[in-house]
Amino acid sequence: MQKQNQNQTAFLPTNDKEMKERGWDELDVLFISGDAYIDHPSFGTALLARLLESEGFRVGILAQPDWRDPDAFRTMGRPRLFAAISAGAMDSMVNHYTAAKKIRHNDAYTPGGIAGKRPNRAVIAYTAAVKGAFKGLPTVIGGIEASLRRLAHYDYWADKVRRSILIDSKADLLIFGMAETALLEITHRLDNGEPLDTLREIKGTAFATKNSPEGAIKLPSFEQISASTDAYNRAFKLTSEQENPFSAKVLLQPHGNRNLIVNPPPLPLKEVDLDRIYDLPFTRQPHPSYSKKIPAFEQIRNSITSHRGCFGGCAFCAITHHQGKTVQSRSEKSILREIDKLSSQNDFHGTISDVGGPTANMYGLGCGNPTAEKICQRPSCIYPDICKNLITEEQPAISLLRKVRQHKDIKHTFIASGIRYDLLPTQPQYFADLLQYHVSGLLKVAPESTSDRVTAVMRKPGAAIFTRFLDQFRQHSQELGLRQAVVPYLISNHPGSTLEDMVEVALYLKHHRLKVEQVQDFTPTPGSLSTCIYHTGRDPFSGKKIHIPRTVKERRLQKALLLFHRPEAKADILEALKIIHREEVAKELFGSQQPDRKKQQPQKNSKSKGARKRNIK
Ligand code: SF4
Repeated sequence: MQKQNQNQTAFLPTNDKEMKERGWDELDVLFISGDAYIDHPSFGTALLARLLESEGFRVGILAQPDWRDPDAFRTMGRPRLFAAISAGAMDSMVNHYTAAKKIRHNDAYTPGGIAGKRPNRAVIAYTAAVKGAFKGLPTVIGGIEASLRRLAHYDYWADKVRRSILIDSKADLLIFGMAETALLEITHRLDNGEPLDTLREIKGTAFATKNSPEGAIKLPSFEQISASTDAYNRAFKLTSEQENPFSAKVLLQPHGNRNLIVNPPPLPLKEVDLDRIYDLPFTRQPHPSYSKKIPAFEQIRNSITSHRGCFGGCAFCAITHHQGKTVQSRSEKSILREIDKLSSQNDFHGTISDVGGPTANMYGLGCGNPTAEKICQRPSCIYPDICKNLITEEQPAISLLRKVRQHKDIKHTFIASGIRYDLLPTQPQYFADLLQYHVSGLLKVAPESTSDRVTAVMRKPGAAIFTRFLDQFRQHSQELGLRQAVVPYLISNHPGSTLEDMVEVALYLKHHRLKVEQVQDFTPTPGSLSTCIYHTGRDPFSGKKIHIPRTVKERRLQKALLLFHRPEAKADILEALKIIHREEVAKELFGSQQPDRKKQQPQKNSKSKGARKRNIK
């Protein structure tokens, strides 16, 4: 009995020695991940491996193996059932390169933040290595990289349309979206002796075949969307119509002489299922073999995930495509049990850094009309307006936060997850509690732009709604006697954004006494609507032509406008104003003081050189 407890609370094995300590001579499933092994529910590999362990399977985790060395994959031997392969919590290309396609020199998911521990296109590289190490072993790919590249897609780094990652990796099955249900079914069915090629109808999976399932929606082929942006937009629109997990049909996309088959998305998990997952015996620590700190762990070690999914539907965001539009919330009891566990750790000092999910104030919310939900085609429940069927009841979130605050070991509870401020008018008490108890001085919010032309492309609320929120935030904070401020997150170079729009945003920031700390430069990540528009130059739904900032120069100038308060941005801003004949704005942005243009010029040139496009394959 004691042995079993030890097994359940220890880390999962990462090498043959740790397997032997458990008395195992063989694994059932070998997990391979591009991230370090952190035994915490915020990390997908640990969560899924613990879930299989709880069903009696023997699982091991190979974290950041050397993809060039087949022996690195054999350290725990050939698993009995299959290898489950993921790039990690991020797409490996997003992890490796900036929006300007420069190599990043750090990796938050690696001990010491060191870059270079995972390959480019990690899913493809790891799958090839597994196939080299274990001939004939079934391979199942998943995680965000596989999920968002499941269909043929535009790849910003190669600047071309790539085939489905399933085809390129030659994996047997692909799991997309949240993987718990599909992974459990695959594992049980393979364990029962079912052949791999009979696993054909599992929700949330994709595979390649020469057959054409009856009733499947046929998308333009990989070859067609590579050759034509109109075909690309048609494929995107057809795919978007099949994202409702309750009513979606099977998709078929030809790639050469084979068909990629994508089953409907997985059904959302129920509260009881989520609670069960978060009750699994995570140690909540990185594997003890690591001697250096892992930045991503430091960021979330004292945070609590209260829910998953987001019904915001922002055009640039991948969450809806990965976690789904349905918000799935844990019960209060489950969250409080996790807080008990967190507060019993020696290194916990009473501050919870976050209670949230993709959007903090969506806890407990959802569609109140099950019939409408089953056939709903709206990409967002709150844009362009709040759907009449949406339950915006604030009590669940208020009650949860109140109980967390009352916990005997908790001194402070902050909300670091994003807030949808267009929902706050329906949540007045939540807003009041947020300001009074849960802001650590600075509240980060993401209007992303304050130009209504751009927010319309982004599917975000416009400037008027943000201004109303800002005024209320400042007024309530003052009434409470609290010195706290809003830090706006804004994107430069999003499709639809022109220099004129960015001037409008800069003036808005100036007039409302706001400063941007960090500019997020738009990166066309796989699978999003914004990426589709970036590639095709048109909105796939309306067919409307949309301006795309593509040149290094325009990208540099747009970014500079958001940072008008920094002296080094002045030369670029003056150049931007000259191009659009808005020189008079300089006075407003900089006051009466004009920058020394000669002095600024060399900086501008060197930036331009550094931002030169790299050729990445
Ligand atoms: S019917 Fe309304 S609330 Fe329900 S899922 Fe659709 S948009 Fe959301």
